[in-house]
Amino acid sequence: RAATRSLRSYATNVAEFSGVKNAQGQYTVTLIEGDGIGVEISQAVKDIYSAAKIPITWEPVDVTPTLINGRTTLPQEAVDSVNKNKVALKGPLATPVGKGHQSMNLTLRRTFNLFANVRPCKSIVGYATPYEDVDTVLIRENTEGEYSGIEHTIVPGVVQSIKLITRPASERVIRYAFEHAKNINRPHVVVVHKASIQKLSDGLFVEVANEVAKEYPGIKVSFELLDNTCLKLTADPADYKDVVMVMPNLYGDILSDLSSGLIGGLGLTPSGNMGDTVSIFEAVHGSAPDIAGKGLANPTALLLSSCMMLRHMHLNADADKIENAVLKTIASGAENRTGDLHGSASTSHFASEVIKNL
Ligand code: NAD
Repeated sequence: RAATRSLRSYATNVAEFSGVKNAQGQYTVTLIEGDGIGVEISQAVKDIYSAAKIPITWEPVDVTPTLINGRTTLPQEAVDSVNKNKVALKGPLATPVGKGHQSMNLTLRRTFNLFANVRPCKSIVGYATPYEDVDTVLIRENTEGEYSGIEHTIVPGVVQSIKLITRPASERVIRYAFEHAKNINRPHVVVVHKASIQKLSDGLFVEVANEVAKEYPGIKVSFELLDNTCLKLTADPADYKDVVMVMPNLYGDILSDLSSGLIGGLGLTPSGNMGDTVSIFEAVHGSAPDIAGKGLANPTALLLSSCMMLRHMHLNADADKIENAVLKTIASGAENRTGDLHGSASTSHFASEVIKNL
């Protein structure tokens, strides 16, 4: 079954990819290896791509930030590379809690205006969880909400964080969700919100969704309170098989981790950060400092993110090749799975099994 399952919901559909092949028939893609397990899982991707003869040349860039006029700033070389190649694959970047630089993940999203974060989550055939039939697609607003970065101390002991919701950012992510639904043949968009409490901010998101929905008469729209969606997703995720969910930033962050839990954890879930001109694909998980450097990390989420990337680049046959080999490896037994999937394989053993299954 692994080889025949529908691959469509790992697809992405924003602005046409406009990269060009070089004289050797290769596409250049920016690679941000990331922190912690980022190095190990990026190595697995590089080894598998090279064995599979995927026509990608990686352009590794350093994203160590500098503070310029108090603002966290990316090295110009990294910015130039992403702008030139239009597409990047990214490992996780650690964000220190408390004072210091702003999150590099936020900086990347803002720098390249990556307004929609697409997070598909599908049950893996051959890896049993209590939920068999998960096939969710969640789209997270990626630039504002509680992640606006606007925080200040009013008086000692009292701080204020601003949740920012704007009409333009809501409109573009909601329209993206309807377009994506059309593209992957899902007849229903569910807008997840908490306008019962956040009357103005989420109220605006809902208002804009109602307006955008009128442009898509063939697609059903419904509205759900976040807490209700959590309940329904964990009671019967199959209810969301024909649905594209769209929601403000923080809700998408949390709900997508919840969805990951339904299929076996963060080691399995890919994502794409989509913008008008560039896109950055990355695993949903972070740098996993608890297992970093030990050869224990599961590279599946980054590999499936790279498959989303390949489909975005219209390299569908290459995406299928990698994805089928990954799914076949997971289904082949605990000895070939990493510890997060109750297996005994190291990252490099898993990668070598994927290569055998290509
Ligand atoms: P995390 O996702 O790094 O780890 C959570 C748990 O999942 C850990 O037990 C970890 O070992 C496990 N895990 C995650 N990915 C795994 C994989 N591929 N294989 C096996 N196990 C895996 O979350 P965290 O610990 O809350 O965050 C660590 C750091 O990562 C923080 O600095 C955080 O800010 C950052 N982070 C970055 C991103 C990103 O770059 N997009 C996303 C989330 C968190």
